[in-house]
This record gives sequence, structure tokens and C-alpha cells, in this order.
Amino acid sequence: GSNTLVRDGGVEGVVIRLAGRPFARIERVGERRILAGAGALDAQLAREAAATGLAGLEFYRGVPGSVGGALVMNAGCYGAETADVLVEARAVCRDGRILTIPASEMGFSYRRCARAADGDLIFTAGLFEGRPDDPAAITARMDEITARREASQPIREKTGGSTFKNPEGHSAWRLVDEAGWRGRAFGGAMFSPQHANFLINTGEATAADLEGLGEKVRAEVEARTGIRLDWEIRRIGRSGPVVRKEFTHVGP
Ligand SMILES: Cc1cc2nc3c(=O)[nH]c(=O)nc-3n(C[C@H](O)[C@H](O)[C@H](O)COP(=O)(O)OP(=O)(O)OC[C@H]3O[C@@H](n4cnc5c(N)ncnc54)[C@H](O)[C@@H]3O)c2cc1C
Repeated sequence: GSNTLVRDGGVEGVVIRLAGRPFARIERVGERRILAGAGALDAQLAREAAATGLAGLEFYRGVPGSVGGALVMNAGCYGAETADVLVEARAVCRDGRILTIPASEMGFSYRRCARAADGDLIFTAGLFEGRPDDPAAITARMDEITARREASQPIREKTGGSTFKNPEGHSAWRLVDEAGWRGRAFGGAMFSPQHANFLINTGEATAADLEGLGEKVRAEVEARTGIRLDWEIRRIGRSGPVVRKEFTHVGP
């Protein structure tokens, strides 16, 4: 859920969470590859790759989501992205077929996987490729990524990370900043004073506050500059009054 805003009326449907061991397993495969379940965290994948001397997946240290989310979002940072390191993805379709999809057929582009766009696939794992390197050198690069993020992003706030995709040739944070919305409160929602493309919940913001601020900023930026900001954060569920329901947990 690190890239998802659930509207206040909740999700009318089944939410599948790939929890538990089989979906979180990470294992080295031969000289250059590593297989990670879709429920494993990106940071765990980065750490495991580093520990076994596989370079190239360091950037995942900075992405707080799961491997499944990384496949759907073509997650990346600091010049590297999922498309660069994926060999193939494993998935289940709604009709129950189990597929292995080569990276070349994923339709990756900036923060997008065309193959996943219609919501028919549930990714179960990804096979990634790196290059052998010294674990200490890889770990040092990961530490650099962590330090860089801590210095520039409000990573301890309640946030979905980058709110808007960077429009071709522009930085989303700059457009939000120039529209005067850095650090300006809107209910409990605000674009972070530290990073103007990070929408944060300063306390008790509803999803409507957060989405409402995002839409307001989009409209103002477009009116000022003619540039359309597209949401990077996925918004799902129904608008409406906040619903708090007990739910039944099936399984262990
Ligand atoms: C502080 C912070 C910093 C961030 N920095 C970055 C960054 O540097 N780079 C970056 O790319 N992103 C960044 N993000 C955004 C986010 O972490 C990534 O988009 C991440 O890949 C989302 O993974 P998730 O597992 O949380 O996905 P979710 O938010 O749970 O889901 C995202 C989408 O993928 C779908 N999905 C998830 N798992 C599966 C699956 N197994 N099968 C099919 N569909 C699935 C969901 O239905 C949803 O549509 C940041 C977020 C935060 C909060």
C-alpha cells in the first residue's frame, strides 16, 4: 500500500495481500540471478542481493513497497528502475492460468507496466539479474542511497511518496512549489515542506482531503502553465464518509 490511497468509503471488493512465507521468499539462483516472491519487500531484496554479492539492485533499498508493487509501478530511483533488472515475472490471471512473462513483454515505461494495466494479473514473483560484486561495496552504495533519501525526503511521514509523475522535461515538485503549495495546509493534507511532490497526512486527513488537495494543485498547475500532472499514487475505492469496519482475517 505504499503507493496507494484508499478512498474513505473503502473498497467494495476483495483485497488480496500476499502475506506469509511462500510469497516473501528470496533466493539466489546461480551466478547472476535472484528470485523474489511478490510479497517480499524491495528493501529485503536489495539486502539479500547485497549479502550474496549481487550488484545492480541497490536502488530497491530506497523503495518502501513490495516486489509485486515494484513490478506494477516499474519502481525505481536514482537512475535505475525495475525494467533494468527484471528477467521475468510470474503471475496468476483471473481465470487461474499461471504465466511466466519475460521482461520484454511487460510493457514497461516510466512508473508503468502496460501488461498489468487492466488488473487481470496478480504477480507472484520476479526473477532479477545483477552482476557479481563485493558485498561490502554494494552495502556501501545502499547506505549512500539511504542517506540521500533521509536528507531529501520526508520518509518518516504518512505519505505515498511521489504524488505526481514528472511530466516530460519538468519536475513535478517544482511545478507544485511554483504554484505555491509547498508546505501549505489543506485540512490535514499538505505537500511536504521538505519535498514538494510528497503529499503528507499531517494528522487526521481523510482520503478526500488528500485527493482533494492533489486535484486542486493539478488544476492550478494546469491553469498556470498548461502542464498536466498525472497521479503516480494509485487511488482506489469509493468516495464517501469514512467507513471503519471490522474484517475477518482468513488464514494464519
Ligand atoms: C516514502 C516513500 C518513498 C517512495 N519512493 C519511491 C521511489 O523512489 N521510487 C518509486 O518507484 N516509488 C517510490 N515510492 C512509491 C512506492 O513505494 C512504489 O510505487 C512501490 O513500488 C509500490 O509498492 P507497493 O507494494 O507498496 O504497492 P501498492 O501501493 O500496494 O500497489 C501499487 C499498485 O500495484 C498493484 N499491486 C501491488 N502488488 C501487486 C501484485 N502482487 N500483483 C498485481 N498487482 C499488484 C496494486 O493493486 C496497485 O495498483 C515511494 C513511496 C513512499 C511512501
